[in-house]
Amino acid sequence: MPAEPPIDTPRTLFEAYELLAAGPTRPIAGATDVMVQITGELGPIPERLLDLSRIGELKGIDLTGDGLLVGAATTYTDMRRSALCREHLPALVAAAATIGAAQIQNRGTLGGNIANASPAGDTLPVLLAADAVILVGGQRGEREVSAGEFFTGYRQTALAPDELILQVRFPLPVGRQMRFRKVGTRRAQAISKVVLALAWRDLGPRGWADVRVALGSVAPTPIRASGSESVLEGARPTPQVADRAAETLAGELSPIDDVRSTADYRRAVAARVLHRLLRDAGGW
Ligand SMILES: Cc1cc2nc3c(=O)[nH]c(=O)nc-3n(C[C@H](O)[C@H](O)[C@H](O)COP(=O)(O)OP(=O)(O)OC[C@H]3O[C@@H](n4cnc5c(N)ncnc54)[C@H](O)[C@@H]3O)c2cc1C
Repeated sequence: MPAEPPIDTPRTLFEAYELLAAGPTRPIAGATDVMVQITGELGPIPERLLDLSRIGELKGIDLTGDGLLVGAATTYTDMRRSALCREHLPALVAAAATIGAAQIQNRGTLGGNIANASPAGDTLPVLLAADAVILVGGQRGEREVSAGEFFTGYRQTALAPDELILQVRFPLPVGRQMRFRKVGTRRAQAISKVVLALAWRDLGPRGWADVRVALGSVAPTPIRASGSESVLEGARPTPQVADRAAETLAGELSPIDDVRSTADYRRAVAARVLHRLLRDAGGW
């Protein structure tokens, strides 16, 4: 195993920004991704590490008029135990519950999942389906980036090297419903082959509005499936609509074959998952 780089452990954001501006350093929160990269020698070893886990400003879950606010260094265990998350964003809790096992959930963070930007990151479709906004900051100030604009390419993000993810804001529009489903080789401790988050608002006779169909593990970045969203917008989840939405989804995805799955399997399973969620929503 390569030598562990020196670690700075700031207690405030101010200190963290100074360390980040001082020279090359790699932020870590739970280090569940970074330590695997270091010990597995996957890429260059960072010169220094910047441990964010002691910065209270990056932790916590709060409900405000703007929505549910989740600090970047909030762990999956914190999200699973949070009454606010369970009440207002159960899809995020469902995603957190599928990530690794207890050890990973105790250390792994929402901000780490976002910055790592794996196409298989399980929380990322929830962010897209929820129209989440990511607050980032550094010595130059703070700015907000929508989840839809954050993932710019394979493992690439809109985050600048001197910026940290501070918080994620999940708007909570009245009447929105959301469902999450992950498909892996087994129910736990598996990287996803397909992950899907579906969101909508039910306007009764006027059908569904603000439909979001967001997926992971089927493209270089987490994506929204605009074709199937159009099928569902203004419609109701009848068997015919579900058939059409699922068929459209299969047609609009271009996944790849890799060690975890084949493109054909991913396409077929994504369509089945959407169909199943629509069937549940329609109660048939
Ligand atoms: C055994 C195992 C199982 C796993 N299972 C899953 C799974 O089922 N689903 C899944 O999605 N992931 C899984 N992971 C991956 C990992 O646990 C998650 O991505 C986790 O959320 C990473 O969070 P972290 O705090 O540990 O990130 P770290 O390893 O600390 O950091 C990850 C990346 O984010 C950056 N970073 C962290 N925090 C910030 C911040 N606030 N601002 C800017 N950059 C930041 C780091 O520089 C690094 O590039 C698994 C990992 C392991 C080892």
